[in-house]
Amino acid sequence: MSALRIAVPSKGRLAEPTRHLLADAGIPIPGDDRRLLVPVEAQGVELLYARTDDIPTLLRDGAADVGVVGGNQLAEHGDAGLGVLVALGFGACTLSLAAPVDAGIATADDLAGRRIATSHPHVLQAYLAERGVAADVTTLSGSIELAPTIGAADVICDLVSTGETLRQNGLRIIDTVLRSEAVLIAADRVADDDRVAVLRTAVESVLAARPKRYLMLNAPDAALERILALLPGLDAPTVLPLAREDMHAVHAVVDAADLPRLLHPLKEAGASGLLVVPIEHLIP
Ligand code: AMP
Repeated sequence: MSALRIAVPSKGRLAEPTRHLLADAGIPIPGDDRRLLVPVEAQGVELLYARTDDIPTLLRDGAADVGVVGGNQLAEHGDAGLGVLVALGFGACTLSLAAPVDAGIATADDLAGRRIATSHPHVLQAYLAERGVAADVTTLSGSIELAPTIGAADVICDLVSTGETLRQNGLRIIDTVLRSEAVLIAADRVADDDRVAVLRTAVESVLAARPKRYLMLNAPDAALERILALLPGLDAPTVLPLAREDMHAVHAVVDAADLPRLLHPLKEAGASGLLVVPIEHLIP
């Protein structure tokens, strides 16, 4: 069987989190590799390094089978022939409309007749059409937030994560056009391919595992009920007999975020030998 070709961002914001995710999913990417096409023979895949903006086209044209892009890029390119396999939880941003604080532009209705500079003309045109607003859309690919200052536009429609760049340029958000995060996508022609299902399960199980920890402890039998009552109720904890008579081991999957307030009460309740370990894969 031929290798599944995965298009991965070669640089930019999504490159490092994608590398990390694939490594966790069992597809290590050599950090110093300068080749654009890297076979990972043990996993039957091939990595094609590409610009995220090109990845939808590469998948559609058959140059790659699956890939990682921003949801915003998929929306802008159109998803014909492509489908989202997994939302990846990184690269979060919004495509937002923003105007100079003192421009008197506060709502979508105020956009009528304005010049809007954007990196996402298709998404913006759809937004304007939906609201019946006629505006003049200009496409720019970089430094969009400067457009009002240099007189190239009245309003911008650009990607925002922290909002700091907008603030620094005296801009205020008017509306959010789209919410986005990185997504793993596949070409429709491979949607039912077993190799895609294998990759998808590996990635999903890594993402599910990341916020979780495996907690192990020993509980004196007299305190067992009290200790179990402290643990999250959704999944029943595992209770195992110990070699000694008066204690049991308790194992549970817990949210990492809950641990700081869980450990002390467990200790106070009589738990000992507490161990917390990371989980690499989790399939609920
Ligand atoms: P890059 O390759 O660094 O230009 O960014 C690729 C993707 O990163 C964008 O298409 C977005 O999906 C995502 N992203 C997240 N936050 C931002 C941001 N503040 N500005 C630009 N892109 C962002």
